[in-house]
Amino acid sequence: MDQQMQRFRQEVHNFAQSEIAPRAAKIDQDNRFPPGLWHSLGAVGLHGITIPEKYGGRGLDYLHHAIAMEEISRASGSIGLSYIAHSNICLDNLFLVGNAEQHEKYVPGLCRGDLVGALALSEPEAGSDILGSMSASAERDGEHWVVNGTKTWITNGYDADVLIVYLRTADRSLGSESITAFLVERDTPGFVAHEPMDKLGMRGSNTSTLEFNDCRIPHSNVLGEVGGGARLMMQCLDTERILLAAGPVGIMQAALDLVLPQIHSRQQFGKSIGQFELIQAKLADIYASLQAARAYVYDVAARYDGSRAMRKDAAACLMFAANAAMPAMVDTIQMLGGRGYLNESAAGRLLRDAKVYQIGGGTDEIRHIVIGRELFAESRPEQEQIPIARMA
Ligand SMILES: Cc1cc2nc3c(=O)[nH]c(=O)nc-3n(C[C@H](O)[C@H](O)[C@H](O)COP(=O)(O)OP(=O)(O)OC[C@H]3O[C@@H](n4cnc5c(N)ncnc54)[C@H](O)[C@@H]3O)c2cc1C
Repeated sequence: MDQQMQRFRQEVHNFAQSEIAPRAAKIDQDNRFPPGLWHSLGAVGLHGITIPEKYGGRGLDYLHHAIAMEEISRASGSIGLSYIAHSNICLDNLFLVGNAEQHEKYVPGLCRGDLVGALALSEPEAGSDILGSMSASAERDGEHWVVNGTKTWITNGYDADVLIVYLRTADRSLGSESITAFLVERDTPGFVAHEPMDKLGMRGSNTSTLEFNDCRIPHSNVLGEVGGGARLMMQCLDTERILLAAGPVGIMQAALDLVLPQIHSRQQFGKSIGQFELIQAKLADIYASLQAARAYVYDVAARYDGSRAMRKDAAACLMFAANAAMPAMVDTIQMLGGRGYLNESAAGRLLRDAKVYQIGGGTDEIRHIVIGRELFAESRPEQEQIPIARMA
């Protein structure tokens, strides 16, 4: 990692450790995103990392974004999740496909943190099979679209001022051409965001159900092309998965930050417990998992070039990091003994937060399918095209 990158990491680390880490336990306990934090993140330039400076961003690459996500998640997993839903899943995607008017209207505000962003895809009856089962729809009515339906599990859905919302705009028989992405503003009549859900982990990252009842969206708020939603969704999934993968990396680092001082201070049998080889073996396992996950995520982020060739590695680095984090969190609790089992210890929160990375952004099972399917397709002698099927 070059010096510029190290300085960037230190800058994010200093901010996250002073502004976020001290509040992490309370954010989890109260299940409340701290007011003012969106602006603080914007003031230090962390929202628009991949956005050109002319729009208020930093003009940096996805590796920088992954490092920021890692350091923020190290301070608080839930702030990390909300951060990436805003800065990549909404803002970066809006920038990639939005037109000039949409850029002017939303991008600077999202970079500053004056506006909060979200992306709404999942529905109560459409999770992994999002393309096939999506039922929330938009019907054209002159210069507007009339939206009806329900989205659920939406990170930042309760706070968001602007949301990318995927809707069915044509008969399902048109397949992937029947879905379109829209920009929806929170104050639009007919749009309601429900109170945040009471979740196992990622508490304070507000997850909500959204309802649309004859909600009229201007045609100018179509993001990309009518019928281009599925393509867009697939295009955006790679960076989403790469950056989500930096979340469990940050949480694994937080586990080491927590446990290393305590294996010195806790004495049993007249020694610090860190002197016992069975404790050292657990540390070694966590360290190796962390370093392997970090190296894979950085490698995929650095190589990201927007091509379909990244799909299996984007899914695989998230699969690997999420699956590495779970045993690491269980071992962290084990090394702390009874104290690790208390809610006053951060260990339980780290475990609860890490779990979501096996579910969100396409479940672990779907990632296995995506990776296996890509490898199978690539190794076919005649290179037959496999139809794109979104598995969220
Ligand atoms: C905290 C949190 C935040 C989220 N944020 C967002 C967000 O901001 N925006 C958004 O749109 N969505 C969001 N999601 C939704 C997330 O993307 C979905 O939860 C995920 O895609 C899985 O869908 P599901 O929960 O409906 O599970 P289901 O699809 O019902 O899956 C249930 C189980 O069946 C398995 N399964 C399904 N199909 C197959 C198959 N073909 N083969 C083998 N196993 C299968 C799954 O892997 C899983 O284990 C969030 C979810 C959570 C928990």
